[in-house]
Amino acid sequence: MEKRRIGSLDVSVAGLGCNNFGWRIGPDESKATLFAALDAGVNFLDTADVYGAGKSEEYLGNALGDRRKEVVLATKFGMEMAGQSGGSPTYVRQAADASLRRLKTDWIDLYQIHKPDPKTPIADTLGGLNELVRAGKVREIGCSNFSSEQLREANDAAGAMGLARFVSVQNEYSLFHREPEENVLSECQRLGIAFIPYFPLASGLLTGKYRKGRPLPEASRGKDQWGPKVFTDENLEAVERFARFAETRHHTLLELAFSWLLAHDVVASVIAGAKTPQQATANAGAANWRLTAEELSEIDRIFPDGEV
Ligand code: NAP
Repeated sequence: MEKRRIGSLDVSVAGLGCNNFGWRIGPDESKATLFAALDAGVNFLDTADVYGAGKSEEYLGNALGDRRKEVVLATKFGMEMAGQSGGSPTYVRQAADASLRRLKTDWIDLYQIHKPDPKTPIADTLGGLNELVRAGKVREIGCSNFSSEQLREANDAAGAMGLARFVSVQNEYSLFHREPEENVLSECQRLGIAFIPYFPLASGLLTGKYRKGRPLPEASRGKDQWGPKVFTDENLEAVERFARFAETRHHTLLELAFSWLLAHDVVASVIAGAKTPQQATANAGAANWRLTAEELSEIDRIFPDGEV
């Protein structure tokens, strides 16, 4: 599979988001889903300490074993875990040690702050993260849910103090949520920061299994009402337009969802979540359509705002 760079890391363009692990699926299903992704060429895994209250990291640590060295492992800290949260240097150290223990590894490839911490100056957080890099516990650092101003501020602080800088930002981005186009993508381009889109399939809406006039599929997020509420009539109509666009070009809606994101050079990897081995395999094979400039413009005409 094609690889792209996140700082010094080489990641597959299709990654695996692991937030179902420990929340919606158990250890055996998580392991089977993980191995299906790895066997299909995925090497980039994204999790967080909070996913399944630590279970996602635990399941990954237990399942990976010897295969740890095959993967680029990204995790996050900063959301509330056991009553603690944020980006203070003391907490950064503590959270990293807890993640390393759960992941059963000596190093985290990409360690991301899950959301900005308004109570801690970003320079202090970067100082804590820099220590982890120097200690060899973390290879690269990234952030999530940051605005373009916050990216700039962090980059300036790291530069001024000679600290490790964020090499990636993970924000919501999909055909249905195009906010990063306002200024985060251009800021990433300017600063040389990789962009990692989350909710790339709009919680499954862009997989092709939700179609207007048909009942919501069993055991799906749409049916279970898990995650953001995107399964509206208006969005289902947009799905029909996207599906028609893809199908007349002999592609699937799933391929459109992945390939459209990857048509943006700053997008490093599409970390779609999967709940079954079949989903993981299908997602790993969905990144191969090279959309032309005309096709990209036509998508903008079909659905200019893309808000859910
Ligand atoms: P998503 O990738 O947009 O949607 C994933 C869901 O769609 C799956 O759980 C599955 O749900 C369905 N699906 C996936 N592939 C499918 C396929 N091939 N066929 C049919 N259905 C399929 O949303 P996400 O998993 O919530 O987000 C992706 C990753 O982004 C997460 O795992 C996490 O790593 C990251 N994330 C980060 C943040 C942040 O604040 N940084 C926030 C949210 C997510 P069903 O089987 O239940 O339908």
